[in-house]
Amino acid sequence: MAVLPIRELGDPVLRQPAREVSPEELRGAEVQRLIDDMIETMRAADGAGLAAPQVGVSLRIAVIEVRPGNRRYPYKPPIPLTVIVNPELTAPGEATFATNEGCLSMPNLRGDLERFENITARYLDREGKPHEETRRGLTAGTFQHEVDHLDGILFVDRMADLSSLSTWEQFERFGKDEFVERITALVERVGS
Ligand code: ZN
Repeated sequence: MAVLPIRELGDPVLRQPAREVSPEELRGAEVQRLIDDMIETMRAADGAGLAAPQVGVSLRIAVIEVRPGNRRYPYKPPIPLTVIVNPELTAPGEATFATNEGCLSMPNLRGDLERFENITARYLDREGKPHEETRRGLTAGTFQHEVDHLDGILFVDRMADLSSLSTWEQFERFGKDEFVERITALVERVGS
């Protein structure tokens, strides 16, 4: 396994819609090694998720994991390691919540945006087995953030008002306490 360089804002690969992975490709050594490397890269960067375009590969694959004590996102509920291939998200309801996100491809930036409160995720795991599950709250937000990457969309594109854009340090100073209080109440209300 290897920690791969993470592509940053301005790299065209982040703006390109990624293509689906075929069953043969998914079984192949190259894609399996890519998935291992993506997991190692996400963990090394303390991310909550990482999409293949972020390591320069335009395929519809993302990895998601929040381990207890994640340093970037200590307020996120834990998510067991989840590999999503060719994911499709649908929102069964209209309800959204106000959140604040960062992105490994936009180091040191965070901003406010709305995400659907509930989503149904259909995807293949790394063995090609189909899954369908409902995710809520911040975990639903993480899924939406990663699947957006596969469509060439970054969280700043979802911001209705760019005035909330901040560095991580200024977010810690001015925004974090209010946000964590509000988002903790959301997680208690809707689950993950
Ligand atoms: Zn991201």
